[in-house]
Amino acid sequence: MARYGMALDYKNCINCKACEVACKEENGVLLGADKHRIWVGVNEVKGEYPLLDIVSSTFMPSQCQHCDDAPCQMVCPTNATYYDENHVVRVDSDKCILCSYCMNACPYDARYVDDRTMTVDKCTFCSDTRLARGETTTACQNTCPTKVRTFGDLDDPNSEISELLRTREHFSLKANLGTNPKLFYLT
Ligand code: SF4
Ligand code: SF4
Ligand code: SF4
Repeated sequence: MARYGMALDYKNCINCKACEVACKEENGVLLGADKHRIWVGVNEVKGEYPLLDIVSSTFMPSQCQHCDDAPCQMVCPTNATYYDENHVVRVDSDKCILCSYCMNACPYDARYVDDRTMTVDKCTFCSDTRLARGETTTACQNTCPTKVRTFGDLDDPNSEISELLRTREHFSLKANLGTNPKLFYLT
């Protein structure tokens, strides 16, 4: 049993999309589907005078935040959305009736409908694939050429993620909502 989370050194993201490809390959996500499980947000920043024509971009890689107080779980009428033994927010597709309550409740727009099963899906921290095989990294972490992601057990004081969160400033997305995400963005 663990309490899995992820730290993202997001300023290192170069928007190469290797994480998206790796997630699709590893977890059987529909090829070509956009913003399924994982995505990279792009903010364009315009230069200031006298460099008005210079435009730079910052990238914000994202996925399900695996909230400790997840609104998606609270509203699910069939308990299809649940916390597994590692505090990972999961969806039991056999129980999902596609009412979409969870999609509307998620403040991070992290859920989508899998057109093949007509149930809701999202990032699982690779629980059915890599973790089930005994691996300790996620596909998105493993493939990233600039090492944006560090995945691990937040309850283990000796884990790499615990060390990172002790030594680096970090923030959570929409922290004011009280969802207590287990994704941490390093500054
Ligand atoms: Fe649920 Fe959205 Fe939080 Fe993920 S990010 S746990 S889908 S509320
Ligand atoms: Fe639960 Fe499925 Fe409805 Fe989401 S769509 S709230 S997982 S039953
Ligand atoms: Fe996809 Fe796994 Fe990364 Fe989640 S942790 S975005 S399921 S590769």
